[in-house]
Amino acid sequence: METYTLTRTIPVDASFDIAVLGGGPGGAAAAICAGRLGAKVVLVEATGCLGGMGTAGLVSAWSDLGDGDRTIAGGIMSEILRRMHEIGGIRQEADLNAICTALHGGSGFQPEALKRLLDQMCIDAGVEIRYMTRLIDVDFDGATVNGVIVNNVEGHSYIKAKAFIDATGDAVLSDLCGVPCFEAGRDSAHIMPPTLCAALAEIDFSRWSRNTDEAVRQGIAEGFFTQNDRHVPGIFRSGKSTAIQNAGHLFEMNALNCRSLSDGYIKGRLLADEYYRFFRQAMPGCEEMVFVATASLMGIRESRRIHGEYELNYADFVARRAFPDQIAVYNKSVDIHVYDTSDEQYARYSAEFLDVDRPKRGETYGLPYGILVPKAWSNLWVAGRCNSSDAKVSAAIRDQPACYMMGQAAGTAAVQSLRTGQPACDLNTQTLIETLRTAGAYLPQESTSAKMTRSDG
Ligand SMILES: Cc1cc2nc3c(=O)[nH]c(=O)nc-3n(C[C@H](O)[C@H](O)[C@H](O)COP(=O)(O)OP(=O)(O)OC[C@H]3O[C@@H](n4cnc5c(N)ncnc54)[C@H](O)[C@@H]3O)c2cc1C
Repeated sequence: METYTLTRTIPVDASFDIAVLGGGPGGAAAAICAGRLGAKVVLVEATGCLGGMGTAGLVSAWSDLGDGDRTIAGGIMSEILRRMHEIGGIRQEADLNAICTALHGGSGFQPEALKRLLDQMCIDAGVEIRYMTRLIDVDFDGATVNGVIVNNVEGHSYIKAKAFIDATGDAVLSDLCGVPCFEAGRDSAHIMPPTLCAALAEIDFSRWSRNTDEAVRQGIAEGFFTQNDRHVPGIFRSGKSTAIQNAGHLFEMNALNCRSLSDGYIKGRLLADEYYRFFRQAMPGCEEMVFVATASLMGIRESRRIHGEYELNYADFVARRAFPDQIAVYNKSVDIHVYDTSDEQYARYSAEFLDVDRPKRGETYGLPYGILVPKAWSNLWVAGRCNSSDAKVSAAIRDQPACYMMGQAAGTAAVQSLRTGQPACDLNTQTLIETLRTAGAYLPQESTSAKMTRSDG
């Protein structure tokens, strides 16, 4: 491969306590919570809004917020839900208490309302946002990050900070730092397929009476679709007559390969249009449906995950393991979408998602602090989808409520580290749990521990 060596002198951006890279659920929560605790925070986001998949990705639905009896997605996630309901970002007629406590329930929401709410929450917390700014490189010594190099309309600049949170979804910062990572497609036979979601309007939900999977199976039999994909993850209602279309798996698309990602956007738009035309024709209530837009951000389910101080695994999930240092509890099922259109894949998917080991009423599993910490690093955390977990568990905890909770924990841990001098890899987790509980997190473990749970004991 031909190479070019880049040498240039670039400006150093003002010094910050904490730099958060990526403003999706993980990054937005981390930045807001750290800002509220008094840290000087900069939030670097490649797009022009916060919320990540939930807004720019049009994945405008939160799943699994309660365990059938109580809300388990506490802290900042609960606050966002309540405030979204107040501003009309969740349907006013919806029963908020039922949404928050239902077993395997959830709620659709208006992405524009979430964008504005997260902007306001950042402003109120004193967070400096840098939109349309992309992390491109890093300066580090050993296991300490000194600064990150970003690019935006002003050119390259260097952001100096004392602590760094990688919330890029793809573990971009961790990878640049040389943190060992799992990469889908490289370290696995398959990649869970992404979906390019779309916004729909003018749906008459009073006449919506058909099961989408059943309708699509009939459409496949009639030769309507270019691929025989029997699984439609969802048409999520987001307002009176609006919905988000989560349909069209991009099989074997690799989010870590730009050519593959680019091809994925092109094919994703074709598939989204195909489903839209099909629903108009085949679903009662969709005759006047309007196709508003496809997402500007690809809906990536799996790409890169760090190998952290602890790797949450399927045995922990099955055991509903509680950890003394758990920073959140959750109960979503394993949700590994079909890798191809074979019968075996659909059978495997529905068994895992709906049946085998699906958490029942009152059951949760813990997310220990160590899944947020690259092994032995002093001032680097991750938040969100790139956490340290195996394939099955990551497919359960990648959902937005869990990512907001991870973000709250990472932001809170970073502030504790700056105040006490405790490195990320040796933080007093008892103190962290107490701070998170004070901030409204639901952490039901009876005993806590100053030491984090590590994979190697
Ligand atoms: C198709 C699909 C359907 C889903 N359905 C649901 C659902 O129904 N319910 C649910 O709760 N969850 C759902 N999820 C899961 C959930 O939306 C994501 O896993 C979650 O948003 C991940 O949060 P995150 O903060 O880790 O990353 P993301 O939401 O991906 O946010 C990462 C952010 O980092 C930014 N970024 C990336 N690289 C850089 C860089 N180099 N520099 C600066 N910024 C960068 C991105 O622009 C983005 O804003 C779905 C996911 C997909 C893909």
